[in-house]
Order: sequence, then structure tokens, then C-alpha cells
Amino acid sequence: MRGTQQEQIELSAEGACSAFGSKISMFKIIDTVGDTQPPEIPSVSTEDHTSSSEVFEESQNSKPDNCDDGGSSEDYDDFEAHALYTSVDIAKDLRMWSLKHKIKHVALKDLLGILNKRTILRLPKDPRSLLHTPSGDLHITNIKGGQYWHYGFEVCIRDFFHDVKDDEEIYIKINIDGLPIFNSSKNEFWPIIFTIENLNPKPMIIGIYYGKGKPQDLGEFLSPLVAEFNTILKQGIKIGDYTIGVTLKCFVCDSPARSFIKGVANFNSQHGCHKCSIEGEYSHLSHTNYYPNKIYPKRTNDTFRNKEDEYHHKIDSPLLKLPINMIDAFPVADSLHLIDLGIVKRLLTGWRDGYFKNKMLKWPSKTTEELSSKMQSIKLPKELHRNIRGLDCLSFWKALEYRNFILYYGIVVLKGVLRIDVYEHFLILFCAVTICSTDNYKRFYDAATKLLNHFVHQYCKIYGEHYLTSNVHNLIHLTEDVINLGI
Ligand SMILES: [Zn+2]
Repeated sequence: MRGTQQEQIELSAEGACSAFGSKISMFKIIDTVGDTQPPEIPSVSTEDHTSSSEVFEESQNSKPDNCDDGGSSEDYDDFEAHALYTSVDIAKDLRMWSLKHKIKHVALKDLLGILNKRTILRLPKDPRSLLHTPSGDLHITNIKGGQYWHYGFEVCIRDFFHDVKDDEEIYIKINIDGLPIFNSSKNEFWPIIFTIENLNPKPMIIGIYYGKGKPQDLGEFLSPLVAEFNTILKQGIKIGDYTIGVTLKCFVCDSPARSFIKGVANFNSQHGCHKCSIEGEYSHLSHTNYYPNKIYPKRTNDTFRNKEDEYHHKIDSPLLKLPINMIDAFPVADSLHLIDLGIVKRLLTGWRDGYFKNKMLKWPSKTTEELSSKMQSIKLPKELHRNIRGLDCLSFWKALEYRNFILYYGIVVLKGVLRIDVYEHFLILFCAVTICSTDNYKRFYDAATKLLNHFVHQYCKIYGEHYLTSNVHNLIHLTEDVINLGI
């Protein structure tokens, strides 16, 4: 353990010195003659420092007495002031570096010890100070399955509007989702975050749950949020002479989290559609529930609150206490999960790997290679930040790569590769997604609805009804959400 820790410290120190080399080199180099004090950290070897002809000055508490530049006391004061000034910059860089590379506190503490001992820097001794770890009462409460910290929506808004000069109306989008934090355990964060749609796209944190898996008691998890919003949605937030009016526009979640916070059947179960009362059936061919190619009555706020479809409801969510529309405020048309990582990923993976069985045979490896090569020869405009990776990396593609495929170059590279009817079917999706991706095509939203209905209908013919999974079915609800909530 000792060897491992020392190795880690040396690696950390090496990385830090390399990262901050340009700033460290600004400091005066002092001869080591007379510097006989060993570092305070027993696990760190001092051999390299003491054998070197030059090391950084011991500067923590006293003026150096082995300085050989013959400088005056004023020079030294300037030097001290400069050191203090530069320490702030280096502390900031060091904080970002340690967060980026996930440096352990024990290693960071030793590194700070070395820098404070061997340079004139004045850095915090404790890594928690360097990292600005919050201290004091964090209002963490034990709830079933884990712990919950509630920071509060109102506190965030007061932080944001510290200099308000007029009444404001803000539109809030809340996101709740699970976030695995370790590879080796099931412990997760479930942060509740929000953005102010009309003013600030930067997310702010209302609260965070930590525990094994998702919160076990939805009531305990969401009650602080609901209590706060019930007051704020009616009265707004008073800041000085002005009032911030708040409208809770929607909850943006992936499908499992959406079902969880609404207290309803899982998204891919028999009664899992959030927008209509369609009944799914299990398929032994696709090994999942599929939704028949039929139109069913839409769910409404009233039918939901009256639990007209008893099989859809599992528990009473605390969100029912909020004055919101329990259908419209939970969009399924979230492009990341429904389009990019949903239907586009499903199609590409299906074509490459033969997921659609005998309805659509798997591409021969030669086709996959040629297509990859064609894709990688394309130069995207510089506004699109991701390079194109080949189909052999499909499982590593980020959502943005799938997005670039459907919106920009998919229709070019697939021509002549897909069967003509399959290619034309893909064009329908391309047109509908393009229309729904911008306000500029608002006038075509009705056309997009028809295109998506046609796409799902044709999907059934081309790939088979058993592959009409939740993601494919939800496409018929896409434009409804876009019209209600905007892009
Ligand atoms: Zn539906």
C-alpha cells in the first residue's frame, strides 16, 4: 500500500508540475545549501529534491535566509506579493486539474504539502479547501434506501437573481435521472436539476439523492420539491420589490425515470405508453413488448388523475399534488433518448447486426466496411464538433454522432446501400426529424405528424409488427410534444 501511495503521489506531482510548469518556472530558484529540513510527508521521498542543485524555496512562514540573489527587503516584499497573487491562479488550475483527473484527496494533500514545502506558493493545506468542498450543515436527511440533500429551488433562484431590477416570468424545465457513480457498486446519484428555459440554459441543482439504486420511497424523495413548488407556483418568489413568477413547464427524463417519478407502469410494459392507452403484447421474436399498429384513445390530465386505466398506475406520485398537466408536462419527444439514442441507433445497429432477423438481413461485412469508409471521407462543417467514426465503433457513438447522421449525412451515404423501399422509409424519418428540429419549420408540424404516422405504419410492414417497440410507437406522439412545449 505504501509503495502504491508513493507511486501515486509521485505521479500526481509529476502531472501537476507538468501541467503548471509554465507558472512554477516563474518562481525564483534557490540553492539547496542549508535546506536540511525533510518534507513533512513521510511517504514522499525527498531524495530527488535534496540531491538536485536547485529546488524551490522553503517559504511557508519565514523569509528565506539562503537567498543568493542579494535582493533588498523591498524586492522581497514584491516577490512575496507576486507569490501570493500567483498562488491564487495556480490553486485554481490545480483544482481543475485534480477534478479532471480524479486525483484522490490523500494524493492531493501530499502534493499540496510538497508544493507548500518546496516552493514559495501559499496553497491550502487541506484538499477540501482547494476543491471548495461545501462545509457546514448540508441538510442531508436519511430516506429509505439512501440519503437526500435538498438545496432548494428558491435558493437557486435567489442566487441567480441577486440583482433583479424588474418583475420577471421564468419557465422551468426539471430533469430527474439516475447517475451510476461507480463501476463496482450499484450506488447512484439521483440529482434533481433544472434550467430556466427563457433565461439560462445552465443547469442548477435542487437536490441530490445518493443510495443503492433509485430512491425506494418516491414520497420521501420528491416531497421537498413538491412542497416548495406548491407555494412558488402560486405566489412566485419575492426578491426586494420585485416578483419572479414561476411556470413549471415540464419534467425531462428518460423513459425509465419518467415512469418512476410518475408512479406508473414501466415504459416498455403492457400499459406503459404515457400518451395513449394502447396495450402492448410480449413478442418472443423481438423479446420485448411491442405496440400494435393501431390508434388508441389519448390519455388526458383528467383520465390520468381519475386512474381510468387502472393497469397504468402503480403508486400515487407526490407530483399529483402539483397544479400541472400530468400528460403534457412529461414529454416523450426528447430528441436525445427518442431519436438519437433511440430510433436512429436502433436502425443502424439493426442493419449492421441483423436485429430485424429475416425481415432485413444483416449487412455483409464488406458493405459495413465500404459504408464506414464512405462516411469517414465526409468532411462535416466546422460547426459540427464530432468527427465521423466508422460503424465498427457504433456502440461507442455519442448521441451527437447519431444526430449528425440523421440530420446531415445519413441520407447521402445510405443511398444505394439500403433497399429502395427501406431507403425511402429512412427519408421519411429524416424529413420529419428535420421539421421538428427547428422553429423555422413550424408551419410543417402537421405534415411532420402525418410523416411520422406513415413512418410507424411502414415500419410495421418493412421490419414487422413485433419490432414496434416503445421507442418506435412514441414517434406518433412526437409532434404533439413539440407543439405543446416547443423545441
Ligand atoms: Zn401511445
